Amino acid sequence: MSGGAWRRRLYGSFIFVIFLTSSLAISDEISAQKSSAEVLEWYGQLLETQIPKIRDLIRPNMTAEEREIDARVRIRVIRDDVNNAAAFVGNSIIEIHVGLVRAMDMITSARAYAMATGDRTAPGEWLTYVAEEIDQWRSNPKQARDLGNIQSFATFVEMDKAEWESFRATPAVGQQFDIEMNSSLMWLVGHELGHHFLKHKRPSDLSKSREQEEQADEIARRLMRDTGYSPYFTSPVLIAFAVWEPEADLYESASTHPAPLTRIEHNLRNGAEQLLEDPDFRLYLRDTGQEASFQEQIAADLKALQTLRLPNWGAP
Ligand SMILES: [Zn+2]
Repeated sequence: MSGGAWRRRLYGSFIFVIFLTSSLAISDEISAQKSSAEVLEWYGQLLETQIPKIRDLIRPNMTAEEREIDARVRIRVIRDDVNNAAAFVGNSIIEIHVGLVRAMDMITSARAYAMATGDRTAPGEWLTYVAEEIDQWRSNPKQARDLGNIQSFATFVEMDKAEWESFRATPAVGQQFDIEMNSSLMWLVGHELGHHFLKHKRPSDLSKSREQEEQADEIARRLMRDTGYSPYFTSPVLIAFAVWEPEADLYESASTHPAPLTRIEHNLRNGAEQLLEDPDFRLYLRDTGQEASFQEQIAADLKALQTLRLPNWGAP
């Protein structure tokens, strides 16, 4: 598969999906001023601190055996550039690779930039550039798959460190960034915990694998609802999968996971439902005069996803 017109349309459209600020409780611990290494460290800590919170919420419904599994689950942050996360159910270990967190960070930055400036062209072009870099890795397996070789979004739009940091520190950008990044991380951890709680074993075939992944996604959405986060804001993590492995959308039946676009759609629909069930969120929409525009936004986001599904995306 080569990067082409379909891909440009794909990534241009991704930037259109979902821009909304909300009254959702977001952590104020994050500082927009942190260096990349500090941000990654902080995410590792965020993951650790959220787990007990999730445990407390689901403990009442757990069997003694589940409680025992739960008490043993450990999160390990792997400091390499692999764009992945995994659950090792037998060993009660969840692994989150820093490469995935970094990809999410860059995607979230691009989306926050688009939201704040109204410029969706540059983020779309950046995603296309990332996809082309990844294509090159694939065609040359010997080349180091070092994410460090990929230009960050800030570098791509020629903002120096100081400019980017002050941009990140503006409230609109910072809030959008925090909501999407925290929600994406919560979804990721919730998904991997889902594999643990459902005691998933190595699947016998691809269809069984996709079924287990959908079940884990469902657990992630439920855990998010219970912890006050909405799956509506989880697109960055799924965009990271879509960009890194575009064939998963084109050839779902040959994939271990459901198509990323389908997962985004489920999270948007379910997340919007969850948000609208929340009286505080409805009040926020009413007070800010956004009731109609929120509905329009949901419809626009879902439509944007549909346009990505046009059949002539290109053949391998
Ligand atoms: Zn999974």
